[in-house]
Amino acid sequence: MGIFGGTFDPVHYGHLRTAFEMLQALRFDQVRFMPCGDPPHRGTTYAAAALRLKMVQAATAGQAGFVVDDRELLRDGPSYSVDTLAELRHEFPQRPLAMIIGMDAFLGLPKWYQWREIIQLAHVVVAHRPGWRAPDMGPLGELLADRGTHRINDLHQAKSGHIYIHDVTQLEISSTEIRELIAVGRDPRFLMPDAVRDVIMDSDCYAAGDQGQVE
Ligand code: ATP
Repeated sequence: MGIFGGTFDPVHYGHLRTAFEMLQALRFDQVRFMPCGDPPHRGTTYAAAALRLKMVQAATAGQAGFVVDDRELLRDGPSYSVDTLAELRHEFPQRPLAMIIGMDAFLGLPKWYQWREIIQLAHVVVAHRPGWRAPDMGPLGELLADRGTHRINDLHQAKSGHIYIHDVTQLEISSTEIRELIAVGRDPRFLMPDAVRDVIMDSDCYAAGDQGQVE
């Protein structure tokens, strides 16, 4: 199964198309969207956790294979991926787990809490993003040389331990840009499903002047 964590503040078509292409191309039985509670690397979120969850639920409703998992929102304290993956490994002892992250996030992986442990628990599947290159030096360069694979079958035959870089349709959409656009009074339509836009419009969660909130 693919596990797709993020702040999803808000979720947009860059996330959804990436998850969908991974689901199909990498033959995952499901992709689990995992909105994070208190993001350890980023400090604050803008929309409250309950709203971010509602947006992810609205965005994924009706798509076979898309599952929403709210465990990180229910947990107190910082959301560490390693803890989430350890829980999933316990629940699904025999299934391959694959953590899906964008190339921008992958480049920051060595700063994550117990990042080497993450690769023991799951595969890491990296989505190419515009403007970012795969590292060929440093700890991630070494990791790619050691654990990188181009074979989708490796993601099914082993339960964890491989790094796979996958080209996805490049949609240069970011949550930050969406929030900025809304804050200056513009309409985010067509960057996300209408059902997500409705949640944003109804709650006014990205109105100008909102400096973000610690959850
Ligand atoms: P922000 O602009 O606030 O940093 P974001 O758009 O990058 O947000 P996140 O919720 O931080 O969204 O991202 C969750 C995951 O989705 C990360 O692994 C990120 O790399 C990936 N991702 C985000 N946007 C895209 C995109 N347009 N295409 C592919 N992957 C994406």
